[in-house]
Amino acid sequence: MANTSFRVQTHKFSQDSIQTTLVCSKCDEVFSKEFPLDLEGQTIEFKCPVCGAPGEADLPYKSAEEREELEEDFEEVEEEESGEEFEEEY
Ligand SMILES: [Zn+2]
Repeated sequence: MANTSFRVQTHKFSQDSIQTTLVCSKCDEVFSKEFPLDLEGQTIEFKCPVCGAPGEADLPYKSAEEREELEEDFEEVEEEESGEEFEEEY
């Protein structure tokens, strides 16, 4: 288990990546790092670029507000998500 943690100070979602500013719990330095959008909401292990200590960071989820901008393109997908018919069929 890693004993160093990187706290996400600020984050910003771009179209295909998550740009974060992190603070290392070991050396207390602030650094910025980019992650692929796929890693949203996950715990990621990597080494501190400042002191080299291995640690982990909890990446944020995209907020509802940020999500709305993208959802306009996905309206067709949403229609398939209604699961109401299932309950009656038991
Ligand atoms: Zn560090």
